[in-house]
Amino acid sequence: MSTKETREEWIRWLMESRMISAAMIIDAGLGIDVEGGELAIPVYAPDGEFLFHKYRRSPWNKNGPKYRYTSGSSAALYGAELLKNLNKDEDIVITEGELDALALRSLGQMAVSSTGGSGTWREEWSQLITAHKPVICYDADLAGVEGAMRVAMTFPQGVRIAWIPPQYGKDPTEALVSGGAGKLGEVIQCANTYKVPARGTDGRLKALSALLKQFVTERKAAIADPEGTPLHLNFAINWVEKEIKHEKVTEERPVRGPVSGEMSERLAAARAYPIKDLIKVGRGGFALCPFHTETTPSFQVYRDNHAYCFGGCAKRFDSIDIYAKLNNIDLSQKGAMKKVIDALI
Ligand SMILES: [Zn+2]
Repeated sequence: MSTKETREEWIRWLMESRMISAAMIIDAGLGIDVEGGELAIPVYAPDGEFLFHKYRRSPWNKNGPKYRYTSGSSAALYGAELLKNLNKDEDIVITEGELDALALRSLGQMAVSSTGGSGTWREEWSQLITAHKPVICYDADLAGVEGAMRVAMTFPQGVRIAWIPPQYGKDPTEALVSGGAGKLGEVIQCANTYKVPARGTDGRLKALSALLKQFVTERKAAIADPEGTPLHLNFAINWVEKEIKHEKVTEERPVRGPVSGEMSERLAAARAYPIKDLIKVGRGGFALCPFHTETTPSFQVYRDNHAYCFGGCAKRFDSIDIYAKLNNIDLSQKGAMKKVIDALI
């Protein structure tokens, strides 16, 4: 049997490694389960009603998933219950994790996060905080940058994004440890505003081109500045380029060779087979891409039953492609298309 860490060790970790004050540990109602080796983080609705606990694995245990949820809990906005007491002109930092949010709140800086992590964000949450001054401060990695862009898409009027300079670490907490509160405050204050057009909005291609231009200009400036953040900007530029490519592909609409009238009807029927019945589609329409290996879903399934992989493939797919892939059918082989269509209609 392994020796359990003591409550004092947990508290020292929260205070010294996670920069959460003793008062905040109490305020947030953090529960330390010494026996179970877990930290219980209570999550509340905007009206203050308790929703569920999110559990974080002990930092001394490297096995198994980092987070666990009570069954039946769905993603929520962590810190939503504090919004009603907040002044309109106050900044709200959106972080990737609850502990980052609590570190900022320990300094008197209001912060919220999605209990679902960097891949999950709801439009309703943006509406809850848009009257304040939101600033996104996600982790300094690919998933963090892509998550930040996804959140930004839900603020049509534009939103600030604070990029943590890589030399200060990968998230707001590490920036606090290495740069101090002053440095992190500066990063947040200097955050630029970005207008990231949501998918399916009018004039998106034009707006994306403007965004790309802004990022490219900032990258130039960042390269010249020793404290610059070209890495994030590279991720962000890649993201916009992929979106632009997708926008163009969608405009063109795919055409599959010449087909007879009957064949095209059968083709349309097969294509109408719901993608969500072929693969597991999660919140926001995202799934794991069946065409490349990934752990973070980047395969978006759209309401008109097509899908686009924003990951390695950067390509559009339909039910026929997906069915063929799942069943190891090579569509270029003779008779393969008929076989897939027969299976889907
Ligand atoms: Zn893919």
